[in-house]
Amino acid sequence: MRPTEEVEKIAADSKLSVSEKEVRIIELLSGQPDRGVAAATMCLMETGDDRAADFAALYLALLPGAHEEKARAAERLRGSGQLVRSASRLVPWLPGQLLDSFVTDYVSDPKGGSPLSDVIFEIGVNTPDRLRPFADRIESHFIHRSLLSGSPDELVDAFLERWREGDDDYDAIEALALIRTRHAARTVLAVREEFEDPEEWEILLELAGILPDAEREAGYRPPYMGLVTDDGESPHVMGGHVDGPVPVCPACSAPAQRVLTLAADAVPYGLAQDPSFFWYTCSCGALETTTVRVGPGERYVFYGPHGISDPDRSIVPGKRSMTLESHPNRVGVSLEAIAGWSRHQVGGLPRWVEVDAHPHCPECRKVMPFLASIDSGPTPFGAMGFRGTLFCFWCNNCRVSVTQHQS
Ligand SMILES: [Zn+2]
Ligand SMILES: [Zn+2]
Repeated sequence: MRPTEEVEKIAADSKLSVSEKEVRIIELLSGQPDRGVAAATMCLMETGDDRAADFAALYLALLPGAHEEKARAAERLRGSGQLVRSASRLVPWLPGQLLDSFVTDYVSDPKGGSPLSDVIFEIGVNTPDRLRPFADRIESHFIHRSLLSGSPDELVDAFLERWREGDDDYDAIEALALIRTRHAARTVLAVREEFEDPEEWEILLELAGILPDAEREAGYRPPYMGLVTDDGESPHVMGGHVDGPVPVCPACSAPAQRVLTLAADAVPYGLAQDPSFFWYTCSCGALETTTVRVGPGERYVFYGPHGISDPDRSIVPGKRSMTLESHPNRVGVSLEAIAGWSRHQVGGLPRWVEVDAHPHCPECRKVMPFLASIDSGPTPFGAMGFRGTLFCFWCNNCRVSVTQHQS
């Protein structure tokens, strides 16, 4: 049976749950030649089944590169009725001209239930500048929130006025912070004295892109999307076994494992050491963070309870790597993420599941800049060993990492 027919057959199997179908289709496509790029693209070019198209698009979006194939598939979906919805998954890789065509299609007949809504939603998240000129044609609250990112300075000033006039209208000042430009950050910095609660102000300033204690950037720039690729494809290591002591869960004593080690030399952040991030392999949820000081030669010092690592317990399916691709949103996404549905990110500003404060470094007590986020969504190699999203922070002076969990 040809891969397209097999994908259609699994997608139509009423005995399988959606997540079982997803697992089987990822397994099927990842086993094809060329990691399944050609098979997934072919499926998107020829299927008439919207469920099959969505699984194939989901798979293709787990792979880096393949820009030409992704654009060809999206172009075909654009002219295929309900199937166009699946093109939303491919938006980060599509050329500007094609994205503009989707926007034109939508604004000529904007409807909430239109299958194009999902595509427009992703265009708002990834390239808000392209959609912003048409904002008045769009009703969705979520799309409007995604369009805050990188908005012009006049909107910052308008939100500031609304916040002051509206008697501490929190929504207005939060929307201002979510614009995440230099002007937005400077504006939040300037209104410090007008806040009764200093913590509330600190969170807003971090959200806008500046750390409150030293006026440093809240994230390392520029931002990248991260994709899980096989061991050795990229110098950034995911998963695998780290010998020696690791944090352990205080409830069940299960050892943590390495999620990610970034190669300092392979990112333009001036990192003093290869930052490593660990997470628990159980689902107790007893602790919300792990904290690690990284010494030379991958020597780790863990804060809090720790024990010996176990090679049979892993948080990433096998030893893999993380391939980085330029993030289309250079400013910072303003719409919150849904855990299990977003991408991995390195650099830039955090796309929180729920807006939160950055952690403090246990050594120097300073607020830590954001360095990466790891989502628990599917990988081409199987499922991650945790739920939710991990937010990774790094103090470059003390060489300390903090991994913070949200679900
Ligand atoms: Zn546990
Ligand atoms: Zn520090």
